[in-house]
Amino acid sequence: MKIYFYNTLTKQKEEFKPINPEEVRLYSCGPTVYKDATIGNMRTNIFMDNLRRTLKYNGYKLKHVMNITDVGHLVSDGDEGEDKMEKSAKEEGKTPLEIAKHYTKLFLEDCQKLNIDMPEIICKATDHIKEMEEFVQKLMDNGYAYETSTAIYFDVSKLDTYGILSGINLKEQKAGARVDIDTEKKNPYDFALWIKAPENHIMKWESPWGLCYPGWHIECSTMSMKYLGEVFDIHTGGVDLIPTHHENEIAQSKGITGKIPARFWMHGEFLLINGGKMSKSLNNAYLIKDIEAKGYEPLAYKMLNYTCHYRNKLNFTWEGLEASSKALIKLREGYKKHKEGTEIIEEQVLTSYREKFLEAINDDLNMPLAMSIVWEAVKNTKKSKQIAELLEDFDNVLGIKIKENPKDEEKIPEEIQRLVERRQKARQNKNWEESDRIRDEIKDKGYQIKDTNNGIIIEKI
Ligand code: AMP
Ligand code: ZN
Repeated sequence: MKIYFYNTLTKQKEEFKPINPEEVRLYSCGPTVYKDATIGNMRTNIFMDNLRRTLKYNGYKLKHVMNITDVGHLVSDGDEGEDKMEKSAKEEGKTPLEIAKHYTKLFLEDCQKLNIDMPEIICKATDHIKEMEEFVQKLMDNGYAYETSTAIYFDVSKLDTYGILSGINLKEQKAGARVDIDTEKKNPYDFALWIKAPENHIMKWESPWGLCYPGWHIECSTMSMKYLGEVFDIHTGGVDLIPTHHENEIAQSKGITGKIPARFWMHGEFLLINGGKMSKSLNNAYLIKDIEAKGYEPLAYKMLNYTCHYRNKLNFTWEGLEASSKALIKLREGYKKHKEGTEIIEEQVLTSYREKFLEAINDDLNMPLAMSIVWEAVKNTKKSKQIAELLEDFDNVLGIKIKENPKDEEKIPEEIQRLVERRQKARQNKNWEESDRIRDEIKDKGYQIKDTNNGIIIEKI
């Protein structure tokens, strides 16, 4: 069956066929490991997971690269401000390397909790400094870059196609050019490839232009070319990367090969919280561990993602998560009933489910539609092992562990169990005030305690 993906480059859905019919080569922009990944970041990774699993379901082998940004991503996403890694290191009293290790580990753990099928190659920017320097040197040799007193810049005026992904028109932009800090830049949209490190900068490397560190965009062009070649099949990321990071990646690759490095550019939309932006100041930049602390399984969040197409904004609410959690339990119960069933389903019914499911995922990863087929199969009144097998097969794409025992969902989170133990101790010590306080804390976290003759019962509110 044909596969169609929306391509940001051409602004339309196109039939997808890999350059090499046997193997799809992809590149995904990975995390900047300076802080915890939010559930927003993880939405982008769930989208990546859906893409990988859909391609595999269609029989393709994958060569997929994801980078870990551990240097060069400045606070402004442009060429201004501190390096995010160094800022975080200072704030937490650690070295940038320690920060990178810590948050990379947490990120990978979150991916595992969400049952994300991981790329074949995961590579760090700091392991590719020499290759990046050579890339910058080639851009200099080819006349696409120039040196100022602070950095090596890419000269966007040397490309007649700069802005091809986001539709920026440089000529129109010139009139109202943005105010720039570096007055040595030739054009407002020129961006830093290689930055001369100030005295107090921690991460810096010897190079033909002195002690420097790489700009944010050069790592992805260098690593994608190293592992996937000059032109590969698909490049993914969040929508925020279109006008800066991805535009600049295209410019860099064109400066070396004259070609756009990927044929398909696919972007995941943002997650909103209660209809608005997620931000630290609003105290709503939720993490996977916040979801777990409220007693939900991370895969319930994955289910929530399937209520919305990846190219639409998804609104996160705790009520929405509760509904998805219940749906996941129901789905697993439904699977179990079919597994224990003995009835026979006509082959054409199964084929129809299979075809409709495949059609949905192959139509630009339409997960909401795919889920409606899953429910149709689950709700079939004939309980049959054939449907259980079909659901197991669909789970290769969904990745929601449909075979898991539904009762496992109701496990009381460790955090709540510890609070209950502390409350027990307070009661034994007749510290009623503390005991009541802990009871309220448990209630705030969504659980209630009932003291019965047979012991305590903990229930979700
Ligand atoms: P950051 O670590 O903040 O640079 O984010 C890493 C990537 O995660 C971004 O480039 C986005 O593509 C993605 N991302 C960040 N916030 C969200 C969000 N609210 N919803 C979906 N994706 C997001
Ligand atoms: Zn990137």
